[in-house]
Amino acid sequence: MEDENRMASSLTLYGTRQKRYATLFIPAMYLVIAGLWIVASDWVVASLPITPEAQNELQTYKGWAFVIVTACLLALAMHIAYRKLITANEALERSRNQLELALSSAGGGIWDRDLVQDTLFISPQMKASIGCTDSFPDSLAVWHARIHPDDRDAVNESIDEAISGQSTTLHDARYRIQHQDGDYRWLHSRARVIHNKHGQPIRMIGVALNISAQMEAERQLAHLIRYDSLTGLANRSSFHTQLDDLLAQADGKTLVVIMRVDIDRFKEVNDEFGPEVGDKVLQMIADRIEHVVGSSAIVGRLGADEFAVGIPHIKRANEAQRAARNLSNSFAKKFKLGDRSLQLSASIGVAVYPTDGESSEQLIRATAVALTNARSDGWGNTRFFATEIDESFRLRVRRSQELREATRRGELEVHFQPIVSLRDGVTAGFEALVRWQRPDEGLVPPDQFIGLAEELGYIGEIGRNVLQQACKEAKKWQNMGDQTLYVAVNVSPRQFDDPDFVSVVRQTLADTGLLPSHLELEITETALSRDPEAAQKRLSALRDLGVSVAIDDFGTGYSSLGALERLPLSRLKIDKSFIALYGSQDRTTVIVESILSLAQGLNLPVTAEGVETREQLALLNASKAEAAQGYLFSKPVKHDAIEPLIGRNWGSI
Ligand code: C2E
Ligand code: MG
Ligand code: MG
Repeated sequence: MEDENRMASSLTLYGTRQKRYATLFIPAMYLVIAGLWIVASDWVVASLPITPEAQNELQTYKGWAFVIVTACLLALAMHIAYRKLITANEALERSRNQLELALSSAGGGIWDRDLVQDTLFISPQMKASIGCTDSFPDSLAVWHARIHPDDRDAVNESIDEAISGQSTTLHDARYRIQHQDGDYRWLHSRARVIHNKHGQPIRMIGVALNISAQMEAERQLAHLIRYDSLTGLANRSSFHTQLDDLLAQADGKTLVVIMRVDIDRFKEVNDEFGPEVGDKVLQMIADRIEHVVGSSAIVGRLGADEFAVGIPHIKRANEAQRAARNLSNSFAKKFKLGDRSLQLSASIGVAVYPTDGESSEQLIRATAVALTNARSDGWGNTRFFATEIDESFRLRVRRSQELREATRRGELEVHFQPIVSLRDGVTAGFEALVRWQRPDEGLVPPDQFIGLAEELGYIGEIGRNVLQQACKEAKKWQNMGDQTLYVAVNVSPRQFDDPDFVSVVRQTLADTGLLPSHLELEITETALSRDPEAAQKRLSALRDLGVSVAIDDFGTGYSSLGALERLPLSRLKIDKSFIALYGSQDRTTVIVESILSLAQGLNLPVTAEGVETREQLALLNASKAEAAQGYLFSKPVKHDAIEPLIGRNWGSI
């Protein structure tokens, strides 16, 4: 290419030199011929045997003859030159048009940039390639502005390199440019830089072809090579690459969880429903896995019914366990195939980076070992490569299975703790508190399973059950003759987040016949802070329903005072951790008193939880708390022990 360049420029130089000599040669020849003519014709005239007058006359004719002959010659020369120029121009125009025509069939055109004047010519065909007419400005800035922002630097670099001519004088770049329709098209631009005799770049002439179709084909090909055509997931080799990238990005503080998911007895699906349905199911599985693991995870298909997942930014081992459980649980939902549905399960082998391996290869191998382990115990199991994590995982899984069964079998029972009005010392209502009656362990307190149920996603089921039991019980109290007692039911943040929550409450009231004014729901500050707007809407809907809402464990969360004023709340419950130190620790005493005065300012009644001593009660009475609840009055009791507590005056305590 270098040689070609050199040859081309020396040929050009040779041609220019020839033309320059030609322009000197013609006047020189004219000078010589005219001189010779004058000298020779004078000599001929002088040697003629005629009179001097006749010689003078002859001289005049000779002068005229010279003028006429040279004028004719000049006219002839100019005519020939003019014809040549016209023909050359026509040829140039023709070849340019031919080139344009050839390029336009490929959706491209010509461009010509004057580097001295800094102007640009863009051929109509090139303008047409981006959907513009001839009126599109021949402007470098306007064209440049249309180039995709991600490609601009590369184009500029290629042009600068060609102009500086250090490694090449050829500009060659592929870039995206915005079409009139707003979308981008791919152009392949090639140009050569032309230099003047001093070697300075003066011009750039180039062509640009529309290569969008080719780029799309290349993209599709690359996709075919890297992705599984059935599910659109990364194929085995591409998953390895993606996992290596994920490991390279790991910051050393967090873990990456790698899971190998094998669909149990998938062969039976193919045998029973046929391979087409089998394919459809695999697509649904792929979609479900992608949905469960979230957008920061990578998902691949390793084999027919085998998938792999890599989840980054995992902070602790139990988060890894949760991720594995979520994936396993996602198979609990049936796969719908028209009017039929299919129950599947998956065996999962889990490895954790960096604990179980350093490279994608080691980790994927570790998941295979874990998967074999999972399979050895039957279907639907999940096993970790590391045994310690596996043990605690199994324990939690067992507990969660038992909890699910207990919920279904109605083994969750609700106990009630009286809430005492400090105005008259009489029982004002009861708080419903759930317990899990385990055959071998006895009563399990809610702190030990509510969190797990939230995590597993069946807090809604438990919540509905408790609400139902509590409302049914409260309806009985009214039948016993007390028309003022209310029941307070705890609602977990997840339950409160559920868009159906308000209708569940409405339905339960309708089913049990309890008046809405006799139900109070206890939510925590967390439930308000997650999505304040949705929380506000839900609270308003509950208020419209006639149900009161209290903030439970107040002081332990992060509710803003502004929010308390704005939201339709009916009560604050001071957390028992504050009441435990109320009166004995100065700091806590100040906190309790300020909560009480804040609530007074907002016109919100306050219930103090966890009152265990008379001193605490006396202080609360003095500070004008509205109600109190605690072991001082009564521990939570079973429904059959409630009757003596109804209407009881606790003033004698
Ligand atoms: P909470 O709503 O703040 O309930 C008060 C807790 O304090 C109850 O614990 C109660 O037994 C205990 N308690 C009451 N008086 C005293 C006292 O004088 N001293 C001490 N040390 N403790 C007292 P429990 O029943 O273990 O409930 C713990 C938490 O579990 C509840 O706190 C509530 O947040 C949650 N919970 C209970 N039942 C349910 C439920 O049905 N659904 C939901 N989502 N959460 C529930
Ligand atoms: Mg409560
Ligand atoms: Mg509480």
